[in-house]
Amino acid sequence: MGERPAAKKTKAASPDRRSAAPKAAAKAAAAPSAGSAATPPKTESRTALVRRARRINRELAEVYSYAHPELDFENPFQLLCATVLSAQTTDLRVNQTTPALFAAYPTPEDMAAADPETLEQLIRPTGFFRAKAKSLLGLSAALRDRFGGEVPGRIEDLVSLPGVGRKTANVVLGNAFGVPGITVDTHFGRLVRRWKWTEQQDADRVEAEVGSLFPKSEWTMLSHRVIFHGRRVCHSRKPACGACPIAPLCPSYGEGETDPEKAKKLLKYEMGGQPGQRLKPPPDYPGLPARPLGAE
Ligand code: SF4
Repeated sequence: MGERPAAKKTKAASPDRRSAAPKAAAKAAAAPSAGSAATPPKTESRTALVRRARRINRELAEVYSYAHPELDFENPFQLLCATVLSAQTTDLRVNQTTPALFAAYPTPEDMAAADPETLEQLIRPTGFFRAKAKSLLGLSAALRDRFGGEVPGRIEDLVSLPGVGRKTANVVLGNAFGVPGITVDTHFGRLVRRWKWTEQQDADRVEAEVGSLFPKSEWTMLSHRVIFHGRRVCHSRKPACGACPIAPLCPSYGEGETDPEKAKKLLKYEMGGQPGQRLKPPPDYPGLPARPLGAE
């Protein structure tokens, strides 16, 4: 196991935002051991857990100051559809698929009236396209018939739509309506368990336990930061511990590659100098836009 890097203080983004993230990772990987910022004790108190969790969130906020939803969307309906399509695939693949979909069916009324087979073919690259087409047709018809063609801004209404669970509802609420929500996807669940914020496996329980560690106002951005970190650094099979800026706060340091140089090669997207997931990333995104379907 390599030397645990010290807690770093990543500066806010430099004028050249495209190079900021890789530099942050390189800095973390090259930092000497702090020694004092050690693995939390097995009997960490609730107060200590809250402090450590919030410190991780602050560190991630510095590293991913540009964190954002990684689905391309221009309105709540597009975000709702894109989130439904994102099940069992990458946001990149969804982003490469939705331009043609939204051009064909810009409103719930248009999509509800779509020919099912045509719709299936348009969303085929995202996988599970028959079930997803059924969800899109069902939720579009429900929006048209029950909500006047508008996406509702309440969780109880959103989860009443076909194919929409709490995760999708929270993505839409947090990013299209500004209502705080925690998005427990596969990355979020894995990371918060690695950090010992919770031991729960059930997404609703994870949402409740992690939510209790933070003020509501942090929930949406916390979700983006954790998911960013899961996609770029703390991967499922090979976490890049040796290039991880929050290694000194992580009880699972050493679960992945600890050699800084080897770990650096595991970094993905803008942290690894590669294109991101969005074809149309926000202006402050420091990496390259994703390429359209077929141009990868
Ligand atoms: S497991 Fe490794 S990569 Fe993941 S947060 Fe901990 S130190 Fe970082």
